[in-house]
Amino acid sequence: MRLQRGNAGASLPPEGRRTVAVVTEELTLNNGVRMPVLGLGVFQSAPEQTAAAVETALQVGYRHIDTAAAYGNERQVGEGIRRSGIDRADVFIETKVWPSDYGYDETLHAWEKSTRKLGVEQLDLLILHQQAANLFDRTIAAYRALETLLADGRVRAIGVSNFTPAAIDRLMDAATVVPAVNQIELHPYHSQPATQKADAALGIVTQAWSPIGGITFYPGPWGDERRNVMQDDTIAAIAAAHGKTPAQVMIRWHLQQGRSAIPKSTNPGRIAENFDVFDFDLASDELARIDALDTGRESGPDPDREFGEQMLFPIPED
Ligand code: NDP
Repeated sequence: MRLQRGNAGASLPPEGRRTVAVVTEELTLNNGVRMPVLGLGVFQSAPEQTAAAVETALQVGYRHIDTAAAYGNERQVGEGIRRSGIDRADVFIETKVWPSDYGYDETLHAWEKSTRKLGVEQLDLLILHQQAANLFDRTIAAYRALETLLADGRVRAIGVSNFTPAAIDRLMDAATVVPAVNQIELHPYHSQPATQKADAALGIVTQAWSPIGGITFYPGPWGDERRNVMQDDTIAAIAAAHGKTPAQVMIRWHLQQGRSAIPKSTNPGRIAENFDVFDFDLASDELARIDALDTGRESGPDPDREFGEQMLFPIPED
């Protein structure tokens, strides 16, 4: 894994359209493919806002978009990329297979659906969205399909999401390709050191979802006892010391520790803010103070939960 330093455009130009010369920092995945370390997430981005958010992000300098079949906005992600005028080859597209499409043939078909909606012929990274531990035979068959897609060049890299170390071990008993990425809930209140360590031991890049703690504050069925990491005093103090925002400090914490992060926003100012993280460094004691905020408890769903019928909703063809 290698971090490459580059220059990043910091702010969105007032007229909203200008090409910013940018080299984003990249990670080299375990198969040699290079992935921009910082991407735009689009979970809960309404379809009608997604194309504009993607277009804005690409203008600001992002070169990596993280979507999923289950988000219902792959079509608008493709539209935003085309509208940006940036070459398809210069954008790293990551998407996910939902468990209702697990199984060998089903997952090959999920690739067809996602590429059709995105309007592309190849995906940069295709990952299994959930372990679905109670359906793990289908999970393994789905991963075998990812291996086929990789061998055929229909995807450039494959991986998983929400996999515990035990689930990765179980997968590796049957798989031949080590996942390139494990995308997991990861923010200062749930930094999952054991999973990070297990991923690193296998050469898997850990990618943070809810990297600025969205799952600790946005509305949803995740409970009232959540504590909003965006309002954390330690992070506020570190942010003030650097003249940065709490979101920028959290993103920088991920990047300096070798993780990929995919913050979501549909707001142009916040999209730019979240990318303006390449001009400062957190000191090791600041990184340690953020690490110490870990509560050991997720705010989002338990990765080991059972997948019942109601969660196996169908992913539309178009
Ligand atoms: P994030 O940590 O990215 O937080 C997003 C929330 O923060 C939104 O409410 C956003 O609102 C707000 N926000 C964004 N930027 C700022 C800022 N600078 N200051 C204050 N608030 C801000 O949470 P997500 O859960 O969305 O995670 C990011 C991505 O990870 C997802 O979009 C998705 O791609 C992926 N993901 C994957 C999951 C999985 O199971 N694999 C689960 C969840 C997410 P606004 O848009 O108004 O700016």
